[in-house]
Formats: sequence, structure tokens, C-alpha cells
Amino acid sequence: MAHIKDVLNSMDYGPAPEGNEHVVAWLETHKAGFGHFIDGKFTDPGAGKSFKVTNPADGKLLARVADGSAEDIDRAVSAATRAFKSWSKLSGHQRARYLYAIARNVQKRDRFLAVLETMDNGKPIRETRDIDIPLVARHFYHHAGWAELLESEFPGYRPVGVCGQIIPWNFPLLMLAWKIAPALAAGNTVVLKPAEQTPLTALAFAEICREVGLPAGVINIVTGEGDTGAALVAHEGVQKLAFTGSTDVGRIIRTATAGSGKKLSLELGGKSPFIVFDDADIDSAVEGLVDAIWFNQGEVCCAGSRLLVQEGIAEKLYAKLRARMETLRVGSPLDKSTDIGAVVSTEQLERITSLVEKGRAEGAEVFQPSIAIPGTGTFFAPTLMTGVEPASTVAVVEIFGPVLVAMTFRTPDEAVALANNTRFGLAASVWSENISRSLDVASRLKAGVIWINATNLFDAAAGFGGYRESGFGREGGREGLFEYLVLGDGKPKGKTAAMGALVAAPSATAEIVAIDEVDRTAKLFIGGKQARPDSGYSYAVTSSAGKQVGLAGLGNRKDIRNAVEAAGKAEGWGAATAHNRAQILYYLAENLSSRSEEFEARLRAMTGASKRQAAEEVAAAVRRTFFYAGFADKHDGAVHSTKSRHVTLAMNEPFGIMGVVCPDEAPLLGFVSLVMPALATGNRVVAVPSSRYPLAATDFYQIVDTSDVPDGVLSIVTGNAAELAKTLADHDEVAALWNFNSGVDAALVDKASSGNLKPVWNGGSPDWQGGDAQGREYLRRATQVKNIWVPYGE
Ligand code: ADP
Repeated sequence: MAHIKDVLNSMDYGPAPEGNEHVVAWLETHKAGFGHFIDGKFTDPGAGKSFKVTNPADGKLLARVADGSAEDIDRAVSAATRAFKSWSKLSGHQRARYLYAIARNVQKRDRFLAVLETMDNGKPIRETRDIDIPLVARHFYHHAGWAELLESEFPGYRPVGVCGQIIPWNFPLLMLAWKIAPALAAGNTVVLKPAEQTPLTALAFAEICREVGLPAGVINIVTGEGDTGAALVAHEGVQKLAFTGSTDVGRIIRTATAGSGKKLSLELGGKSPFIVFDDADIDSAVEGLVDAIWFNQGEVCCAGSRLLVQEGIAEKLYAKLRARMETLRVGSPLDKSTDIGAVVSTEQLERITSLVEKGRAEGAEVFQPSIAIPGTGTFFAPTLMTGVEPASTVAVVEIFGPVLVAMTFRTPDEAVALANNTRFGLAASVWSENISRSLDVASRLKAGVIWINATNLFDAAAGFGGYRESGFGREGGREGLFEYLVLGDGKPKGKTAAMGALVAAPSATAEIVAIDEVDRTAKLFIGGKQARPDSGYSYAVTSSAGKQVGLAGLGNRKDIRNAVEAAGKAEGWGAATAHNRAQILYYLAENLSSRSEEFEARLRAMTGASKRQAAEEVAAAVRRTFFYAGFADKHDGAVHSTKSRHVTLAMNEPFGIMGVVCPDEAPLLGFVSLVMPALATGNRVVAVPSSRYPLAATDFYQIVDTSDVPDGVLSIVTGNAAELAKTLADHDEVAALWNFNSGVDAALVDKASSGNLKPVWNGGSPDWQGGDAQGREYLRRATQVKNIWVPYGE
């Protein structure tokens, strides 16, 4: 007689399909097709063009869905604009009631939504049932809470307006929730375009909106492909765009919205490292890898797709991983014991296949387990590629499939260097039983989300989003809400008085003088030293009365590059204690204060300001410097309330090197108002002062020199602000850019910034003397949040 152990070891899984009759019946009632959801009603599905939506697991037709035109988008935006008037006026509590109702209705229909999502996307029911849909409900509950608390927690902020939201196919309903919940909580209205591959749960969600009686036009859903998305991006009635998808399309959207003033958040691609040290719990790391790269078929923007393993344990880890891969089950997504479902489309399957072949051709060793793969449908076997070179295609590009590429490292420094050797910066996983090492590595990784001994953890209370070409902005938690709010009343602010007529770029208008011909020229300030401009020229600075009051160096792109290079060497500034930075800024404030009279005289000579005005500007600049010195060690992060037995640390990190383009108004105060918060938070700054009145900033060199500011932390390049701003925007090492110079074309800067997808803040003209030119908003904009998840317990 067989032993029970033998029976258990040889037992196979029986089929365990989830029933889908409710979904099939629902699809049947929509046999005529789905229209768009605009102004609280579904449009006639037969009215225009449509496209097919199929089940990737068997290729069968699920539904026909309307293909949105520019007119459809226009109608949806109009509806959202009308609805905004009353929706934004509701109390937070009233909006919260709707969000709670949505959350409850999602929970009531959770099985239906999970099955529909699985049929539409191909992902396993186990995941839609246990992860996607519960998180959708969680997001609406969480943000119902924010709606309730908005007035007390975000004083002075207001909703942006109509939000255009474009989402991908990998987590269709979850991405909808990430976008819609904060938008509504903050008082905005929405036009959302789901991905063409997976629009069905968004349409089911539209029905929920109707069921809960959400006012017409608050949510509009227009289905369609890329051109429908492009029409939404281009629409002038949209004030905010939120996009999740590929970096290529993110770049197109950045370029298309350049200069429009639309608020933008981008959540893009990744090639996230999964780093295993030799002191890791290897079995846990193997389970972590299953989750990192085979969850959702690897079609996850933050998938741990690059395994970096310490050399000494590499073969052992690979062997365990290969054995584990033999137990993965690829098959019907509706089967409850399926681990890996179908890839979303044949195009995606072809892309994955060709990338794996490319990896093989480039010398990688490809392992796939000998498990059964369904003969029909878009299935791809879990794949491990070892012996991968860091520069090879599969190590660099996002595969977006169940394919793990592995490389080895020797030391923690090498691990960090390899991990950061990517244009992306979405997420990272660090595996080590040594907490000190784990946190050290986490702090050095350039990514927006770090999981210690864990992977793919998400929660509505924690922000999610990337560094570098993984985009900017956060979704979730307090930090995510800022993406849907603007500070102040939105009315244009008056300029600081009596600063004389502004002129455009110096190179166009001013007298250019060869530098050797003059003695007293304010040079540039680069790497802690005064430097001659590369051009060899300076330009005449004239007072508002037309009198020459000095000469300033005519900086060019080479000077900006030198300044960025110097800033690159001053990395220690971000790592210094905030207390150290505070001390230096206090010192700077004192030194500025003791030379007030000189600065007042300079301002008066340049701008024609009265004695009182000049004194006020200098005094305000001194106070502001003290203010940010005081804030240097107080721009705290948070510990988010996410899952139980987790510390989720939200750390405010400096961008690194920031470009700051200062205004012509308030030439000293504007400069100080922008440079100080950036420095206080640990950034290194390349500042372009007012082109018209640069001498207040060039006088500032001496203050910097005598205040122990390390070399390269602040460089100042005078010249044509528009030209220098563009060079800063173009530069890949500049991680964020603020432009407050009204003479600089915002469109030009936005467009140029799409290279490394740096966030750009075209800040307009605040009242420099007033409260809106100082405060937390500036500190927040000078930092990016890194969320580090640390689970605890034995
Ligand atoms: P993926 O590679 O994951 O399919 P995409 O970036 O192509 O990602 O698609 C994400 C979303 O962006 C989808 O809803 C798609 O229709 C939309 N989209 C594609 N091209 C554009 C575009 N040029 N402008 C706006 N949206 C677009």
C-alpha cells in the first residue's frame, strides 16, 4: 500500500475554476457594445467607431468598445468642467460620503470585478481576488478619509480642476483607483481613459458611479487607443494630467504639454533591482523573487526584474530558484491554483519572446522549467537568464514579462553601483538579515520605493512613484494628494514694486564687452571659485535709468556644464547632517545681514528702488535665509500607517543637483527665496540669477565664500537666462529644475526637460515679499519622497 507521503508527493492539482457566469451574463447584456460614460450616461455604442476586447487566455471576444474621438473627449471634458463647479464646492465630508459609497460598492461586487479583471487582462484570479480588488476598495476608503480631512490637513490648497487620467493595462482597476480616488477627494473632476486592451472594469466602475448617485460629470470614462489619450492630453480644458504607462509615451506627454501650465504626474517604467546579499535568508529571497517577477506575469512597472546576487551565494540561489520554478503553475487565469496567467496580448508576447531571444544571442544562459504551458492563449514560461552582462539589452530595457535577468556583485558598493546603473528609478528590493547594511543600501539606491526583505508591497497610505526616468509625482498617501491640489487662490500675483522695466535676454539687448578690456567684471561662481565665462565676454548691466552700473559674465552652456560637474563633486552636502547645513545657512544669513548696506546700495543702483524698498528687500532676504536655516532639520518625513508589522518610512530626499532660474523682480530676494530651500534640503544648486539685475547675486559670492559653503554646493552662472535655463533643462545630471523667470519660455524648458524627465516647476511670479514665496511648498518641491518598507517580526 502506498504511503500517505508518497500520495501527497505525487498528487496533482485538480482543476479549481472560479465561476464566471455573472460576468458572462453581464457581457451578454452589453452585446451591442459599450459606449463611453460621459456626464453620468453611457453613450450609444453604435454611434461611432469601436474596437474589440478579447480574453488573452483564449483569444475569445469579450466585448466591443467605443473608440473615443476628439469630440468624445471634448464632450467629456465639458461635462467634467460643468461638474467641477458644484463638486469642488461640496464640503469634504459630502465628497467623503460618495467615496465611502464607492468603496462599499466595490467590496459588494468584489468577486464580479475580480473575475472580469482576470478575463480581460489574463492575470490569475488569485491575484485579482486577493490583491487588486481589495486594494481598490482600500484606496477609496483611504481617500474618503482624506476628503473628510482636506480642509484641516491642507489649509490654503484648492483642487486643480479637470483631471485627464490615462492608465495602462497591467492593473486596470487598481490604476483607476489610484488616479480617481485622490482626484475626487481633493475636489477635482475626471476624464479617464483606460488602456485599449483592458477597458472593461473601468466601464463596470462607471456603473458603480451611477449606482451610488455620483453627480453627473464628476467621473467620465472615454475608451480608446493612444490617439484618444493624445486628444485628452491636448485638450485645453484639462488642468492636470496623470499618466501611468511607458516611458516613451510619458516623454511624448511631457513634450505635448510643454508650456501649457498643466500639472503633470508621470508613473513610468522601471528595471528594478532585487539585491540579495550573502547574509540573506535565501529561501525567503527565493519566495520574494517569485513575487517580484512572476506576480502578474512580470507585467509590473516595479517588478524586481534585475536580480543582483552576491557572488558567493549565486549558484546556490540559482539552484533553489530553478527548483522553485519547476513548481510554478502556468495556466487558466480563472483557475484558483494558477500562479502565472496569460500575457495581456499577442504583441506583448512577441515583445517578450524577441527580447529573450536577444538575450540568448547576447550570451545569456536561458532557463525555463519543464512545466506545462497551455498550447493556446498568450502564455509565456517563467524565465531566468543568468550570465547576463550589465550592458546587455536584457539587463537594460524593461521586458515587462515573466523574465528575470541575473548578475552578480562582490561588495555592497558594487551592488549599489549596479543597482543604480539604469535610467530608471522606480523600486528596489534589498535582502539581508543585517538591518544596518539593508538601510545603508536603501539610502544609497536611487529609487522611489525600497522594500527590505520584501517586494511588491503596496498600500493606499504610502506614496508610490519614481526617481529619474521612472517619472515624477507620487500616488497614495499624503504625498500623493499634493498632485491633485494647488496652493493659493490661483490668481496671478503682483510683482514686487518699482523694479524698473524688465528687458529680455542680455545677449539680445545689452552691450557685450570682451572681458579683457575691462577690469571690474563680476565673473561667474563655479565650484567655489570665481571663474571667467567660457565665452570670454561680459555684458553691461544698466540701471532702469539706462546708466551702466557694472558688468556681468556672459555664461554659456559650457559654464553650466562646469557648474554641474562641480556640483557632482559636492555630493557630501546631501549626506551632511541637517544640523550642519543649518549652521552654514545661519552663518550665511548673518554674513548677508552684516553687509546689508552694500546690498541695498547695489539694488538701488540697479533697479532704481527707493531706499526703503531696497532695505525691505535685503531684510526679507536675511529673514528668509534664517527661515530656511531653521527648517533644514525640520522637513521631516513620515512613518505611514500601512500594513501591520511594517515600518513604512517616507523620507524626504534631495534631488541631487537642481537648476534654479531666478526672477528679474526682487533680484536678491527672489534668488534667496529659491536657492535657500533647495540648499536647506540637501540639494546642490546651479543658479541662474536675474539676467537684468545679476549683480545682487554676484555680490553674493563673497557671502558664500565666507560662510563655509562647500565648493560646488552653490554655483552661480550669469547670462542669458533663457539660454542657460534650456541648458539646465537639457542636462541629464540636473535632476530637477525651477524656473521663476518670466522671460524664460516655459514651453522650451518643459520640452528640453523630457530627456531625463526631470520635474520642472514653472513657478510664475509670487509676491516675493509675501507668504506664498516661502514655506513648506518650496521644501516639498525641493525633495522627492522615498518610501522604505521594513517588515518586522520573526
Ligand atoms: P504600455 O507599453 O504599457 O502599453 P503605453 O504607454 O503604450 O504603455 O500605454 C499606456 C496608456 O497610454 C494606454 O492607455 C494607451 O492607450 C495610452 N497612450 C498610448 N499612446 C499615447 C499617446 N501618444 N498619448 C496619450 N496616451 C497614449
